Amino acid sequence: MPYCRNCGAQVPEDAMFCPKCGAPVEVKPQLKPDTRETALKYFVIGLIGAFLSTMISTFSPGINLYFLPSFVSSIFIIYVYRVNEFKESLIATFVVYLFADGILGTLVLGQYYFLNETIAITPQLWDVVVYPLNPVSAFIAAYIGARVSPRRREEHVLVPYKREEGPGGVIYNL
Ligand SMILES: [Zn+2]
Repeated sequence: MPYCRNCGAQVPEDAMFCPKCGAPVEVKPQLKPDTRETALKYFVIGLIGAFLSTMISTFSPGINLYFLPSFVSSIFIIYVYRVNEFKESLIATFVVYLFADGILGTLVLGQYYFLNETIAITPQLWDVVVYPLNPVSAFIAAYIGARVSPRRREEHVLVPYKREEGPGGVIYNL
């Protein structure tokens, strides 16, 4: 059972006010968001990432930016969503890469397909070397994103009183 932050009295689990002093009891927020909400969040992140990435590529015609559009978009989205945890930012980054590179590839190839054009590409050594770096850059983006994104505001959780026996008697640890 939680304790009142004001007077230290035990408060029933579902109480909104302390029965002893009447202080309002802060409600513990739901710590685990449900799966559907999480899936939707990452779906939206993927869409925004694909859009940003496509915009970056579109405004730099003639230059192959490789992983850079996805890289920049990932960090930007992680920053906006304030993702501090590496595990979370990694998922977000991979969703962005999946959506961005998947959609981008489909757009580019689809364009050639519907226009019935042939593409003559002579790969440079640079192309061959840089492509395997794509997944590696995703890890780096996730790491940088989690580091630079501002901390989420500390959520108010009802902290139970911890009683510690000190030399002077009972110490209430707030
Ligand atoms: Zn109280």
